[in-house]
Amino acid sequence: MKNKVKDRISVYSRTLETDKLEKAELKVIGDSYCPNGHSLISDDVVFFDHSAIHLKARHKKNVSDLFVSPVVGDKCKVSFDTKLENDVVYELICPTCKVTLPIASPCTCGGQLVALYLDKGLKLSRSVTVCSKFGCPHSEVKGIDKLKSMQF
Ligand SMILES: [Zn+2]
Ligand SMILES: [Zn+2]
Repeated sequence: MKNKVKDRISVYSRTLETDKLEKAELKVIGDSYCPNGHSLISDDVVFFDHSAIHLKARHKKNVSDLFVSPVVGDKCKVSFDTKLENDVVYELICPTCKVTLPIASPCTCGGQLVALYLDKGLKLSRSVTVCSKFGCPHSEVKGIDKLKSMQF
């Protein structure tokens, strides 16, 4: 898959300042999986040169592609579909098998924090969460720090 030449969209998020970014050690989600073990990482869109997390967002009959920054703490989510609205709580689904991704907990915005598994063990204790509301300020991938302290 890496050998394929295809158009790639680069996103440079404004939610992290560039100088901060250069100094910071970026923590990046390298892999994430749906409950059926499909990889959710896509080369089609890159954030700071890192491949995006690709999900589909469903609301009623509309299904849109949603790309989430894999950089921990970066709040950037993009969609190239104008139908996505900031205030709507979407159902996040796997682009490959269309399964609904599991909800880890409610988000303070009224949306839901959806779990993305970090490995094929598919355990919530090894996952990060993304809010299902497109415009939610708590939308960044998070859970890595907590994850470390949860390791036995
Ligand atoms: Zn899947
Ligand atoms: Zn939220």
